[in-house]
Amino acid sequence: MCNHLKDHYFASGRGRAKGARYVVISGVTKQAAEQEEKNKRKEDVMYTAMEQLDRVDLSCIKEKMQAIQEADLKERRQERRLKASLEASKSKDLHMLLCGRCQGEICSSEEIKICENQNHIPINRGFYDIVRIERRAKEMTIGVGISKVAKVFCNITFGDGICGHDLGGVQSYKGRMIPTLSASSLIFRSPKGSKQKCKKWMTTPFKIDEIALEDIPQHAICAPI
Ligand SMILES: [Zn+2]
Repeated sequence: MCNHLKDHYFASGRGRAKGARYVVISGVTKQAAEQEEKNKRKEDVMYTAMEQLDRVDLSCIKEKMQAIQEADLKERRQERRLKASLEASKSKDLHMLLCGRCQGEICSSEEIKICENQNHIPINRGFYDIVRIERRAKEMTIGVGISKVAKVFCNITFGDGICGHDLGGVQSYKGRMIPTLSASSLIFRSPKGSKQKCKKWMTTPFKIDEIALEDIPQHAICAPI
């Protein structure tokens, strides 16, 4: 109960009186008391929080943040080393990239290039003769100036019809429409004829050369869909 009202309540002797006046005042005091109780609880929470904050050692937080940053840096260095040793162990021999379903030839390991460390682009002439490009119902933005605009399906004859395997996509990338293949949709055939699957490009058995965005040949750029 609010101290001021409580004092008034008892000092005026209304606490002992009977009748309407008592009810009115007691109604007011009850409301005020509830409010005071709420305020008190809020204050308690604030004090507890401030007490806890006082006890927190800022230098301790700084140390912990440094430790996290160092661990992160170490992890990234390890990742780079692993990637470099993986790259060094890769073959320069010509492999063939086959459709993961019909095993038709899509392109060779010399005809797939990596652009800006992320997109794997087939640059062989005739690529568009063996695939079907289908515009996505909705473009999907995946970065600044980058969006997925279409899908690439295998168009090679298979069995009684067309294969239709999902090979990758077409990205609108910094104003260019570039086709990209996903490693998991393909089968990789070595010069000796052995075949293997790789979920990620990083683990393919052959080296992939880089290409600058402006060096992608015109015939590799996807025509407007
Ligand atoms: Zn196919």
